[in-house]
Amino acid sequence: MNGEFIIPLNGLAAGENEFSWHAGKEFFEDFENSEILDAQLDADVRVEKSGRYIGVDCYVEGEVVVECDRCLDDLVMPVDVEIRLSVKYGSEESSEEPQPGEREVIFIPETQAELDMSQIIYDYVCLSLPMQRVHEDGECNPEAMKYYGGAVEEVEDEAGADAGENPFAALKDMFR
Ligand SMILES: [Zn+2]
Repeated sequence: MNGEFIIPLNGLAAGENEFSWHAGKEFFEDFENSEILDAQLDADVRVEKSGRYIGVDCYVEGEVVVECDRCLDDLVMPVDVEIRLSVKYGSEESSEEPQPGEREVIFIPETQAELDMSQIIYDYVCLSLPMQRVHEDGECNPEAMKYYGGAVEEVEDEAGADAGENPFAALKDMFR
């Protein structure tokens, strides 16, 4: 849809400006992402303009559907991402990684009339997803587990050994 994910920098009034966008399955298809099978995300954006300062606070909430690494069935993952940007005019490259709690600074050319947030939202959402995407224990598709269960169990044990520092994991097993 026209205007979706676009902040019209030239037309911004001083003070607070609000936008809300929706990102569905097509959003990820446009990025040729085949890992995200479906999505229902809402982006609430607050843009503050004060002189030459433009601050963007963007909250993305909702869920995406990916494939479970264990049973290959659909797995719904919650998404809750906060994107805080400071927009600056100029040709400099952003050289430093933002510190925790700081705004990420993005530089745009003076002539640029609008800021397309879609790539930024896409990157933040994808980065927020865990590397290992599996259902909670016992919630995998039992039919699929008949076929895949044995082989994947070993992989999971290795991962479990890596995470074995957690003393509560042992306690949890005792009370099963
Ligand atoms: Zn599963």
